[in-house]
This record gives sequence, structure tokens and C-alpha cells, in this order.
Amino acid sequence: MRTVEEALEAILGRVKRLPVARVALLDSLGRVLAEDVAADIAVPPFDNSAVDGYAVRAADITGARPESPVRLRTLPEVPAGALATKPVLPGTAARIMTGAPVPPGADAIVMVEDTRSAGESIEILQAAQPGQHVRYAGEDVTPGSVVLRAGTLIHAAEIAMLATMGRATVPTFRPARVAVLSTGDEVVDIEEGVAPPPGKIRNSNGYALAALVREAGAEVRTRLHISDDLDATEAALRQCVEAGADAIVSAGGVSVGDRDFIKPALERLGRLELWRVAMKPGKPLAFGSIGEILFFGLPGNPVSALVTFELFVRPALGKMAGRQEEDLKRPVVQAVVTEPVAHVPGRREFVRAVTTAEGGRFLTRPTGAQVSGILHSMLGANSLLVIPEDSSGLTPGQTAAVLLLHG
Ligand code: AMP
Ligand code: MG
Repeated sequence: MRTVEEALEAILGRVKRLPVARVALLDSLGRVLAEDVAADIAVPPFDNSAVDGYAVRAADITGARPESPVRLRTLPEVPAGALATKPVLPGTAARIMTGAPVPPGADAIVMVEDTRSAGESIEILQAAQPGQHVRYAGEDVTPGSVVLRAGTLIHAAEIAMLATMGRATVPTFRPARVAVLSTGDEVVDIEEGVAPPPGKIRNSNGYALAALVREAGAEVRTRLHISDDLDATEAALRQCVEAGADAIVSAGGVSVGDRDFIKPALERLGRLELWRVAMKPGKPLAFGSIGEILFFGLPGNPVSALVTFELFVRPALGKMAGRQEEDLKRPVVQAVVTEPVAHVPGRREFVRAVTTAEGGRFLTRPTGAQVSGILHSMLGANSLLVIPEDSSGLTPGQTAAVLLLHG
């Protein structure tokens, strides 16, 4: 049985980045930039005003005070998007709007609040240093400089920079196409207002895995449910291959039950490369491949499926989509445990927990019953509290590592 680290290393060692695809700017949101982006223009492209006010020559208004204003003759106004028609000569000022180019001759802007209108003239009530409220060309970005590095995850701010650089299309790594499989004769699909027949349960894993795939920024190619039958399982895997999946993620049927057919079906079509990880929940994790397609066989207990997806599948999908090695794992913080947490030495345990920042430190508490069949404890959990293999439980006040999931 492998440790969590060994399993993750083995899995990530098998993951290749997917090909680069050029997509429309907005479609690059959530993807990873595949090339450095250099600035084609300066930002701002020209000296412009940071406020609504008057463009002046600072030397004209050195003595301006509210009780002794300096009177300047006004020139035609300079709106944003237009160029000044007249230079600011000594003794004159031009009304200027935020973002409008600073007219030739002017070297400072006086805020409109520091002026008083006087017919054809304007009274300036405050002196100004040269450069006041001027945004200089290139002060944000100089032409030719690299503004975004390959490997950057594209959020709204990156979209803003790409748009500023005129990138209508963006080279990005293609996110993984994932086939999601649920298994089990006891599992029925959901139907609005219809209770499952006796002995059956609703399919939560099929939906949970699809949601996790989407949250990870990948695409759900197909979603299938398989009965507990070897031929049916093999046929479903073939269907996933035909659907063009880069990865297949299944839940259930991967343990040592007589009716667990995931591993034998995988071995018929491809290779089982790893099985069982020393962790709780989620020991019976299987990993393998069918040709170039990676296969993740997660345990069927809903909580085990969620936790193993988080620890192994999410990083793998991230690497496929071009995420940097250091971005694949969740942030880990040390947190003080506020409730006793039981643990039998042996496997590393991941406990669903609520972690909060209080008084300069992190506090963490389990969300309730932790047996892997209890989905309830997953709700409201924002983190996984990590109990080391050799621990015989944590007592309040002890510190433990916590993986921050969200929130
Ligand atoms: P298995 O790993 O197939 O033995 O399943 C372990 C447990 O998870 C069983 O109690 C199953 O009924 C449950 N389970 C498996 N698949 C699903 C599913 N798609 N939705 C909800 N529960 C499931
Ligand atoms: Mg089963």
C-alpha cells in the first residue's frame, strides 16, 4: 500500500500537459496561459488626467490660495477620447476630464473642487506641483515588457491585461475532457419527486464527480452509470475512450467485493498502475491507464469519492490543464484543534473540518460524524484536517495541518 505522497507522485508522474489551443479572450477565463505575453503598447499610452479638473502650468499658480485665487483664461474643454485643440499657454487653463490627454504646455491638473468659475475665466484656489494628477505614459506598463507569464491561471484581472494588450485570442492549454462513471446495481438515477424503489439508493456520486470536474476547470465529456457486471463495465470504458476522454473518473466497484469489476475491466483494456493508498477515507483507490487516457477508480462511498478526488484527481486535472507544479496543491496551514479528534494509528486520516482565522491563528473543528458513508459532514466543511499516520488522536489545543479547500 502506498502513502498519500507516493501515490500522488506516481500519478502526477504519469500526467502530461494537454495541447495548446487558441481561444477567444473571454473563453480563456479559468484556463492557463500557454505563452508569455509582452506589451505591444505603453499603458497608459499617453499622458492623461487622473481627475476631472483644469490642465494648467504649475508655474502660473504658485501663489494660489482660497483667499487669493489665481485667475486663468479658459480654453476649449478636453473630453476623454479627444485631443486638445489649443496648447495651454501662460495665463490659460483647459477644462479636462479624467482619462483625457494632457494638452501641450500643461504640466499639472487642478481638481475641479479647487477651482471657482468666473465667466470666461477660472479661479484656481490651490497651488500645484508639476505632475500633480497626471498619469504618465508607460507608468503602468512599458512597451515590450512581459506582462503575463506562461503558466498563469487566467482570472478577471488577467483578462483585463490581455484586453489592454489587444489579445482578442489567447493561447491556452486545453482543459481535460473527463468521462464520469458511477457504478452499482443499488444505484438509480434521480427523478424529480420519485423516491428510490426498496433496496435502491439515488446516484449522488455521478453528479458529485461531474461537479468536482467542473470546479476543477475541466470538461465533463460524458456521464454514464454502470451495473455491477464485468462486460458492462468494459463496454462503458470503451464508450469513454470513444467519447474522446483524456481522463476517466469512476466511483465505486473498486474494492474487494465479488461484484467489484472496475479493476478487472481496466486490466482487460489497459493497465492498473496503482491500487490502495494508506489513507482514510479512500483506501481502495485505483489508478491506471487505457493507452494515453488516465483512469482514476475512486471508492464508492460519497465522502471517500470526494476526498480522493480532491487529493489525486484535482491536481492531475490541474497539471493536464497547464497549472504550475506549485499551484496543484491546496494551501496548508497549521491550525489549533478545538475538539477532540479520535484516530487509530495506521493510515493518514482526512477529517472534514471547519477552519476559521481568529486572533492571528487558525482554529479547526470536525464537522461531525466522520465515517465515510456520512455525506452530511461534507456540507459546510471548508477544509480537511490531516491526522498523521502514527497519531492516536488529537486533543483540544493541539496543532495539526489543515488543507484549505475553499471559503
Ligand atoms: P462500493 O465502493 O461500490 O462498494 O460502494 C461503497 C458504498 O458507496 C456503497 O454503500 C454504495 O451504495 C455507495 N455508493 C456507490 N456508488 C454510489 C453512487 N453513485 N451514489 C451514491 N452512493 C453510492
Ligand atoms: Mg458497488
